[in-house]
Amino acid sequence: MSGTPVRRQTRQKQEVRAALIDSDDFVSAQDLYAQLRASGSRIGLATVYRNLNEMVHHDEADTYHAAGGEQRFRSCSQGHHHHLICTECGRATEIQAPLEDWVESVADQHGFTRVRHVVDLFGVCRDCAAD
Ligand SMILES: [Zn+2]
Ligand SMILES: [Zn+2]
Ligand SMILES: [Zn+2]
Repeated sequence: MSGTPVRRQTRQKQEVRAALIDSDDFVSAQDLYAQLRASGSRIGLATVYRNLNEMVHHDEADTYHAAGGEQRFRSCSQGHHHHLICTECGRATEIQAPLEDWVESVADQHGFTRVRHVVDLFGVCRDCAAD
């Protein structure tokens, strides 16, 4: 008895979006799900997944597959950027990479248009290295 299905979907989407924006790090759907449930939400894991992938589809979130295949998500800034990601804790920094001109010239050279690229750097952050 809590409103129409459409309204519930909208609320759940907002829950997922707010939780993702709250997190500075890349997080898995599982993590976000656990967090939402702990704060009293009755959302299901499949719904969290669906909303996260919708956000990726609409360029509202970035994603990558961690070692082991787990997919992680982050609400990032809008502009084109790359990531430096800690494989231990998921901490992420948005970075610029000096390869945009190179990408364009390679695409030109081969007559390609609408070329996309994803370049993420993985390592261990200072805090995790100190443990
Ligand atoms: Zn990003
Ligand atoms: Zn770390
Ligand atoms: Zn780039």
